[in-house]
Amino acid sequence: MMNENFDSLIDKELADLEEKALKRQLCLVEGFQGEKIIVDGRQVLNFCSNNYLGLAGDSRICQAAVEAIGEEGFGAGASRLVCGHMASHRRLEKRLAEVKGAEDCLTFSSGYMANIGIITGLFGHHDVIFCDRLNHASIIDGIILSRAKMRRYPHRDMQVLEGMLRNTAGFKKRVIITDSVFSMDGDLAPLDRIVDLAERYDCAVMIDEAHALGVLGKHGGGAAQHFGVEDKIDIQMGTLSKAAGSFGAYCCGKKKLILYLVNKARSFIYTTGMPPSTAAASLRAIEIISEDHSLREQLWRNTRYIREGLKALGFNTMDSTTPIIPILFGDSQLTLQFSRRLFEEGILISAIRPPTVPRGSARLRLTVTAKHTKGDMDHLLEVFKRVGKDLSPEILVE
Ligand SMILES: *Cc1c(COP(=O)(O)O)cnc(C)c1O
Repeated sequence: MMNENFDSLIDKELADLEEKALKRQLCLVEGFQGEKIIVDGRQVLNFCSNNYLGLAGDSRICQAAVEAIGEEGFGAGASRLVCGHMASHRRLEKRLAEVKGAEDCLTFSSGYMANIGIITGLFGHHDVIFCDRLNHASIIDGIILSRAKMRRYPHRDMQVLEGMLRNTAGFKKRVIITDSVFSMDGDLAPLDRIVDLAERYDCAVMIDEAHALGVLGKHGGGAAQHFGVEDKIDIQMGTLSKAAGSFGAYCCGKKKLILYLVNKARSFIYTTGMPPSTAAASLRAIEIISEDHSLREQLWRNTRYIREGLKALGFNTMDSTTPIIPILFGDSQLTLQFSRRLFEEGILISAIRPPTVPRGSARLRLTVTAKHTKGDMDHLLEVFKRVGKDLSPEILVE
């Protein structure tokens, strides 16, 4: 007999979420990952993946994984420090360090684990962390677990950040941590100003390039490359799970930082190495990203087309300047309704609600990819026009 008290409390919490239009549910994707996918048995246009360049289903990436399985087997067999540090892992790390203009690199099994491991490994209760209010949940969780003092500044507000930097003497390590592209708003951290402040107030900088790798920078190296500040950022973290179409994450920096993390990052030490084939797939993706600029150029053409189109229809796309385009509704119920109507029309865009975004800022989060065709995009805009007039004429800006 299972515990009844426990069961009824779970029921109550779920009912509560349902009532607030905050309950989430998994939907099943069958077949290939791409710009058209089959969800719950029906083919839809996918406008919500982070697969910006379409590499998740690219035959070259799949081939690289298959070849690595032939050479190295599937599982890593152990944690990296024991005997699971394999040739594909090291090749990937060397290439990432080159692309990032860093001395060295360490890969982790996921972005979530990287942030937890890097932040808890480096910072503790004698230290202070300055954190943008909209940083990704994995950064926040890392800071909470680290027990360092967290000072959150309003989103991209450099004036408040400077005030905080001025008034925090007495801590040992000091670091500013920020997403470089914000995952729910699609805007950019002002990295040029952040590195200036860091220099002036004697503070380290860590960035999370999850949505910037492959998307920004002359060679797709990310936002630090875009701003030309790679050599001023102490800790360059990013993921291989978004534009690279693979899985895993990295931290680039000085040799001694990497050696330190090998010794101190618990989410690196106490977990099995990622399958070497995953590392090999990531390496192939990094090569494609840094050598072939055509996918990235197509991504930006598509991004401009959709953002301008939505704005012309009167939708509020916030301050987005990247392929992440939020469409702000505010109300969770309305956002959910809009998302359901889109699905009926064959378009998949998920409703993003609290606690992923601040209360009262529920939105659709549309993401553009290089693989969407003009026909796909025109269909999207036509449906938005129709459903917008129908469901939410009051939110449209004239
Ligand atoms: C997606 C994301 C992560 C987590 O990366 P995973 O590899 O999916 O675990 C971390 N930081 C940011 C900013 C992200 O968008």
